[in-house]
Amino acid sequence: MVNSKMEAALNEQVNSELSSAYLYLSMSYDMDSKGYEGMACWFALQAKEEFEHATRIMKFIGETGGKVKLEPIGKVRQEWDSPKNAFEEVLATETNVTGKIHRLMDMAVELKDYATQNMLSWFVGEQVEEEDSARKILEKLKKVEDSPAAMCALDAQLGKR
Ligand code: MG
Repeated sequence: MVNSKMEAALNEQVNSELSSAYLYLSMSYDMDSKGYEGMACWFALQAKEEFEHATRIMKFIGETGGKVKLEPIGKVRQEWDSPKNAFEEVLATETNVTGKIHRLMDMAVELKDYATQNMLSWFVGEQVEEEDSARKILEKLKKVEDSPAAMCALDAQLGKR
């Protein structure tokens, strides 16, 4: 049975993952409206992944005898000045999520909650990948920002994700 403090914190993380999904969906349609079809596709897949993250935690809450409590998702931004601007926000968001996962892990360790630690360890690894991919795409975007042709090529590359 999951500890009630841990259960509440995991429910908060579900909300955070769903908020990320909502944010990336917003980015997807903003990029699409600006002609970046590849990036729109990349963000749509990213949104789907975030939904899967939330699902993974919700499933765990249920399996450990807790109760999933869905809360409202906050308003997200609807427009970005450039793909670079959007990916800066992706990196900031994922860095913030990493901090949240680490704090959940601290709580699970403190509570000697081994099952939650085991579930969270997947997220610790996942966050390394999320930050790494956001950082790499951001570096590429910085290189191509003044070249429409290179930007088109990068957009096509991201669409193949
Ligand atoms: Mg996530």
